[in-house]
Amino acid sequence: MRIVFIGPPGSGKGTQAQLLKDYLQVPHLSTGEMLRDANEAGTALGAAAAECMQSGKFVPDEVVVGIVDQRLSQDDCTTGFLLDGFPRTVCQAESLDRLLAEHDSPLDLVVELDVAEDHLLKRLAARGRADDNIKTIHERFRQYEELTAPLLDYYRGQSILRTVDGVGTPENVYSQVKKVVGDN
Ligand code: AMP
Repeated sequence: MRIVFIGPPGSGKGTQAQLLKDYLQVPHLSTGEMLRDANEAGTALGAAAAECMQSGKFVPDEVVVGIVDQRLSQDDCTTGFLLDGFPRTVCQAESLDRLLAEHDSPLDLVVELDVAEDHLLKRLAARGRADDNIKTIHERFRQYEELTAPLLDYYRGQSILRTVDGVGTPENVYSQVKKVVGDN
């Protein structure tokens, strides 16, 4: 299955994708992880991305689309994948649709994790990643509302959006995620 997780920072996309990947036996693709790996590997792309990430801004669409295009063309993605943190803009979603159309393999499902902002702030404070400081967090929320939230309508229009209440233990949320995946 080809699934996208959408939700604001701290909504549990990575946690849920990690749980679901073992069940579905498909790879978990996190663009945030890929960009952090590129930075740790010392590539120029990674260093440029790190500057955006540190300030809570999005990395340019063409950079992220390029990384995802490469990754999706690897053999382990032929049976499906779980995308976490991509697409994050309508432009990225349109690029993804085009990439998948080339292989005649459209998305099956988009899972939105719905979590209120006060919960998110508590979770992010507990996580403590380098870009989890308060200034960056607020910028990431702003970017989410402005650039990513419009994707919900985009996928609603394709009739593949399902919303899951993301408040609760990872296991409780996961049982709902499994249900929408099973219903599909
Ligand atoms: P994440 O690990 O998904 O929270 O992503 C961490 C940071 O990486 C984000 O705040 C962005 O700066 C950058 N990033 C990850 N995925 C994308 C994407 N699809 N488009 C633009 N920037 C991204």
